[in-house]
Amino acid sequence: MIEKRGELEKQSFEKKTLISLLINLIKNEDTTKLYPLHLIKILKRMETLKTLIIGSGPAGYTAAIYAARADLKPILYTGMEPGGQLTTTTEVDNFPGYPDGIDGPTMMLQLQQQAERFGTEVRIGFINKVEFGTQKGGMHKAFAEDGTEIHAQTIIISTGATAKYLGLPSEQRLRGGGVSACAVCDGFFYKGQNVAIVGGGDTAAEEATYLAKICSKVTMLVRKDEMRASKAMQHRVTSTPNIDLRYNTEIDEVLGEQVVEGLRMKNNQTGALEEIPIAGLFIAIGHKPNTEIFKGQLDMDEAGYLITKGKTTETNLPGVFASGDVQDKDYRQAVTAAGTGCMAALDAERYLQGI
Ligand code: NDP
Repeated sequence: MIEKRGELEKQSFEKKTLISLLINLIKNEDTTKLYPLHLIKILKRMETLKTLIIGSGPAGYTAAIYAARADLKPILYTGMEPGGQLTTTTEVDNFPGYPDGIDGPTMMLQLQQQAERFGTEVRIGFINKVEFGTQKGGMHKAFAEDGTEIHAQTIIISTGATAKYLGLPSEQRLRGGGVSACAVCDGFFYKGQNVAIVGGGDTAAEEATYLAKICSKVTMLVRKDEMRASKAMQHRVTSTPNIDLRYNTEIDEVLGEQVVEGLRMKNNQTGALEEIPIAGLFIAIGHKPNTEIFKGQLDMDEAGYLITKGKTTETNLPGVFASGDVQDKDYRQAVTAAGTGCMAALDAERYLQGI
């Protein structure tokens, strides 16, 4: 009886405390000095966890599968594009284990389900600010757009990179209908057909030579009178007979209603227009790593890719790991991203064991 009365008094005290805390929060007073921490956590939606994963491509979900199986009870924030870049791909034919191929969105859904099966909490949401701790064993703070504040011992960053597009309405309309930003992913679908590629950097040069092996003809559009690609890559392009290299040339319009059927090109020196029939158009004008919120805290290269140490996924800060395209501008494949996601979870687990 006495115990019950004590419990009721405690509940009533907590209720009153919560109400006055709420009032103070509304009045914007500093509540931290006045109330027990757990009550503040409830109202501010503050959470403490071992592992937070930011990003939901193959790297993020694979990190989640491994982290959950290691009992790190991860929470994964999906970001703006749940499932990442693969959700914009129609068919994935090169991920091991799918002999008949699989469409990108289905594959990402299955990865999510696999991560959830082991206890990952997947949240459709966006982390818009981070404050990393700098000491080993310290806490890292992440702030979600809905006001949730997460304190995590480890953070795995798998925010990916976004392919740049030209921005033409016809190009946007036909994304997934013949317009792609990944020749290695989608080139095979145009076997024996004519395709075009835009860009003059190493990626465009590499992808053009890759496509030339599969397709009957590759028209390569370079907007300047020279290519930015390395001399070796330029040589590969110019010595491939079925690459038709067009300098000073840009896209005026992608032709086709449901799928790509052709291209209207424009010579930016003469203004001359020309139409060619193509089945696929590849945009290779660069990627932008999604690292804006980490600027000033994590080491990056000049293009904004996160720098990891040696063969690990460790960043310059203890307990912060990076996996997938956000730290890889060379391979950029679903399977390599998944591989580094696995590495990041193992690195996080080892780090936690060592603190
Ligand atoms: P880059 O930024 O090097 O090149 C982008 C290309 O796209 C440039 O030719 C650029 O033209 C062109 N471009 C940009 N915007 C437009 C537009 N709106 N319309 C038409 N053309 C446009 O990107 P990459 O992805 O090629 O390479 C990124 C980095 O990765 C580089 O450092 C590269 O060396 C590296 N890389 C290395 C590889 C390797 O070593 N095997 C393979 C692939 C990439 P412009 O020159 O006129 O600005």
